[in-house]
Amino acid sequence: ATADIKILLLENVNTAGQDILRQQGYQVEALKSSLPEAELIEKIQDVHVIGIRSKTQLTKKVIDSAPNLLVIGCFCIGTNQVDLKHAAQKGVAVFNSPFSNSRSVAEQVISEIIALARQICDRSMELHQGKWNKVSAGCWEVRGKTLGIVGYGHIGNQLSVLAEAMGMRVIFYDVVNLMSMGTAHQVSTLDELLQQADFVTLHVPELPETENMISTEQLNKMKDGSYLLNLSRGSIVDIQAVIDASRSGKLAGAAFDVYPNEPAANGDYFNNSLNQWTDALNSCKNFILTPHIGGSTEEAQRAIGVEVADALVQYVNYGTTLGACNMPEVNLRSLTADEPNHVRMVYIHQNVPGVLRRVNEILGDHNVDKQMTDSRGDVAYLMADISNVNQQQIKDIYVALEELSSRIRTRVLY
Ligand code: NAD
Repeated sequence: ATADIKILLLENVNTAGQDILRQQGYQVEALKSSLPEAELIEKIQDVHVIGIRSKTQLTKKVIDSAPNLLVIGCFCIGTNQVDLKHAAQKGVAVFNSPFSNSRSVAEQVISEIIALARQICDRSMELHQGKWNKVSAGCWEVRGKTLGIVGYGHIGNQLSVLAEAMGMRVIFYDVVNLMSMGTAHQVSTLDELLQQADFVTLHVPELPETENMISTEQLNKMKDGSYLLNLSRGSIVDIQAVIDASRSGKLAGAAFDVYPNEPAANGDYFNNSLNQWTDALNSCKNFILTPHIGGSTEEAQRAIGVEVADALVQYVNYGTTLGACNMPEVNLRSLTADEPNHVRMVYIHQNVPGVLRRVNEILGDHNVDKQMTDSRGDVAYLMADISNVNQQQIKDIYVALEELSSRIRTRVLY
């Protein structure tokens, strides 16, 4: 029953997310901060759901101290703080919120395109130091200029629409053939984009193929006096090459929001992680540096709260794993509540040969309305809706499934 579900939320999870969980009737305890490991291990023992942000480390040891844990909600983008593989092997699903801040990032890019074109950050820094420096040389309108978007996903798409609304011409490069927004035009190679764009903005994921995707060779192909923006991941750009291109005047400006080895907390000195570049970056003109704030808005925080809380409810109540980051994604059309004698069984098991035959021997005597199964690595997930079963039969099915050696976890839902 929902009232039996105990939820522990750490690190000041957004209240919109908390409200969704409370409305379900779950027992929710929300703390403002993270917990030291010993306290966490103590507290997690009888918890079914834990919600965290980026600070709480859910290691193998912590996960192993939570026998009732069903699911972990990361109310953030990253999931490095969770041992995803171990969680899956214990039958614990993990959800995060990768796309709730796409709009915020796109809006920051728009602001920086104009700021770069008008050298606004340099003028602001000068005036903060009492220097009145009115210039128009090298300052441009963005209307009619070409924006080159590398990676046309959630962020690239939003950006495309916003940039066209300002009268920019939009071209994009992506490894997948995609439907263009508005009158944007997909080009077939990165080089083509680099040669045509006045502004190049990067929105690809961090992958082995995207590491140092922009280095000296690519910068040399860009137009003289063009601009580069990186709000994706630090590994995608060769920073030294951008510094060189900025000093030589090849680039008229650049904006970075992300870096290799970013500081772990506010107040940590930036040059601890970037000391080899700090002096050089400080000497580059029209170079906007922001501390990975592309997605940091009130709206994005709220959207993350809602998205992750919804995923937790869907998982706890219906077993749905859509969007899970460590389990196969499985879902079935819902049963109608007024159909009596129905049950939804969820069976998480090791992905080894012969399991499904044994499971179906157990389920096969009953009326299985629908069933879906999928695997991801070592772990497989089966969901089955069975009708015309009584309480004793459900119990028998449960016991039989639990006795199989490949069993990780069996759940009986409504
Ligand atoms: P997404 O997955 O929606 O889109 C990425 C796109 O890049 C996809 O269309 C994919 O096909 C394409 N792609 C993949 N490899 C490519 C390659 N080698 N060449 C060209 N295209 C390629 O991702 P998104 O949500 O738009 O995020 C984009 C980036 O922004 C990610 O790196 C993400 O980590 C980063 N991000 C940064 C912030 C921030 O605060 N600065 C916030 C959110 C996301």
